[in-house]
Amino acid sequence: MNKFNGYRCSICGVEYLPGQVTYTCPRDGGNLDVVLDVDAIKKKFQPEDIVSRTEASLWRYLPLLPVNEPAGDSTPLRAAGWTPVFALPRLAEKLHLKHLWLKDESRNPTASFKDRASALVVTRACEIKSEIVVTASTGNAGAALAGMAAAVGQKTVIFAPKTAPQAKVAQLLVFGSRVILVNGTYDEAFDLTIKAANEFGWYCRNTGYNPFTLEGKKTAAFEIWEWWIEAHRAWHKKGSLLENHAPLTIFVSVGDGNIISGIHKGFKDLLSLGWIPNLPRIIGVQAEGSAAIANAFHTGVETIAPVSATTIADSISVDLPRDGVRAVRAARQTDGTYITVKDEDIIKAIAELGKVGIFAEPAGAAAYAGLVKAIRLGVVGGDDPILVINTGSGLKDVRAALQAVSPAPIIEPTLEALKKIV
Ligand SMILES: *Cc1c(COP(=O)(O)O)cnc(C)c1O
Ligand SMILES: [Zn+2]
Repeated sequence: MNKFNGYRCSICGVEYLPGQVTYTCPRDGGNLDVVLDVDAIKKKFQPEDIVSRTEASLWRYLPLLPVNEPAGDSTPLRAAGWTPVFALPRLAEKLHLKHLWLKDESRNPTASFKDRASALVVTRACEIKSEIVVTASTGNAGAALAGMAAAVGQKTVIFAPKTAPQAKVAQLLVFGSRVILVNGTYDEAFDLTIKAANEFGWYCRNTGYNPFTLEGKKTAAFEIWEWWIEAHRAWHKKGSLLENHAPLTIFVSVGDGNIISGIHKGFKDLLSLGWIPNLPRIIGVQAEGSAAIANAFHTGVETIAPVSATTIADSISVDLPRDGVRAVRAARQTDGTYITVKDEDIIKAIAELGKVGIFAEPAGAAAYAGLVKAIRLGVVGGDDPILVINTGSGLKDVRAALQAVSPAPIIEPTLEALKKIV
């Protein structure tokens, strides 16, 4: 059953066999990396075998994932991933960039990046025959778990802060989860979820805590890898490839730090397979009011000191990030950095992206706000090829979206009334 060798602790480096542990390192609580059987994969597969697969979803990378083929042919769970990358020439011009793209994760089945993690965790839960899967969530992780689990008839329990945006809570309920709203923060919900999982024998999906979340999120890196190969081909054809251009720089928003760590892991897997020559630069973006990982990065340490998080971007509002150590390394080991942005810049970014047809929730727009600031700081610019990831849909948080725009006027249904305002 096991398609992987085991787990390695990201802190002490101790390795565990697949059956030995389920969540974090028993010695120090460190997040566990799934260790793939790289030699076996290399013997069996060439990059061409992967990129020629026909599945238009993250399941095209099944040979590089630590689970077996999920049951059911055409369920929403089978549709997670394989999100589009759009070129943004008008925004590029505005920012004096030559190459700017956006990968739109809002097009996942439940409208956020979290579907990648939940698709893997639900598949793992089926494999180990756990009846009930539980997670703490600021909203999206829960919606993704609820949706993916509903797709295959699995039961879920979701703990979310009672302040979660309504659309996200609606998703949880409509997908048939047992939803429990906690009178407290996401962090308090997180700790309660672990206690509940231990008490009732539920399988816990908590972000970072469950190693399979990272394995799902790494699939975005595989997609970026494939897209980048194609982008190069297109440049070659046009004869405009800058042979010695800077490496790709990826901007992604960061809360718990699991997405950025997952993207890093995906590229590290490709590197260890010998399928890429080097890693892209990865730049994490946090809200100023929720910047525990950025603080650690800029202090030059890996120990994450908790903050008291306040930001409009609820999906990245985290007191104590649960994947902070790996998230610091994702930037440090790729020549990247961390950028922090103000809520007002995040709101501005929602409007900017909207004008080119992208509807982002605050946490998604934060990545673009980070790019704008990074250019101002001289971190990137000019020729640098840049990919921004929009992690979630604007429909998730309509109240925040409305703060980014002026309200529409209300008029009498007459031409006279209209003439007064146009
Ligand atoms: C969860 C989430 C993030 C941050 O991911 P982490 O793994 O918590 O760093 C960013 N944007 C959106 C929309 C999310 O739902
Ligand atoms: Zn350890």
